[in-house]
Amino acid sequence: MTARDGDAADSAHAERMRRLQAEQRAKVARAANPERGLVLVHTGNGKGKSSAAFGVAARALGWGQRVAIVQFIKGKWQTGERRFFSRFPEQLEWRTTGQGFTWDTQNRELDIATARAGLAIAREFVTGGQFDLVVLDEINVVASYDYLPVAEIVACLEARAARTHVVLTGRGAAPELVEYADLVSEMVEIKHPFQAGIKAQRGIDF
Ligand code: ATP
Ligand code: MG
Repeated sequence: MTARDGDAADSAHAERMRRLQAEQRAKVARAANPERGLVLVHTGNGKGKSSAAFGVAARALGWGQRVAIVQFIKGKWQTGERRFFSRFPEQLEWRTTGQGFTWDTQNRELDIATARAGLAIAREFVTGGQFDLVVLDEINVVASYDYLPVAEIVACLEARAARTHVVLTGRGAAPELVEYADLVSEMVEIKHPFQAGIKAQRGIDF
């Protein structure tokens, strides 16, 4: 390649970059409200949906932001994340609304009432404007069981405070939630130790 070829390649590259930058600026200008809080959905069968949401929460806390975490399905009674986040009482609100879930007894009425109570808390946090980030952990699962009308969840998101980001986690996210969100990531299971009969590990799974 001659020096002149190199110069031509450089200027073609610079031109391409200028075009990309102009397109990006135009996109931002077109977006109705580029400053508005984002809606993120973490779904799929692979592991990492809730832990990625807790990672986002850690980032927000690192910037001194206020975070709320609403758990729609109660997992193990003690988790590392619960223990860790309890170190930030001034910045973080944690509610577990799923303790009434009765997967064993199939008490559908009670499950629906519990889910509704969870959504009422979520709505208060999402719309109130006092949080920079609200994590609705496993809400996708509760919605996929039809315990909560998806339209009500979308209405709650639509009414979110201007600067509040919301993360929804759980398998089987409803198409309406996927459609509404700004960001959707699907965790794909390639391999999981559970398949090899290895049970859940402290620090990795809870
Ligand atoms: P994590 O909380 O580790 O990010 P997750 O939120 O993606 O996982 P859930 O569907 O909420 O996964 O499942 C909760 C529990 O099930 C966790 O203990 C997790 O390790 C385990 N788990 C997640 N994915 C799988 C899988 N593909 N096979 C078996 N167990 C899994
Ligand atoms: Mg999860």
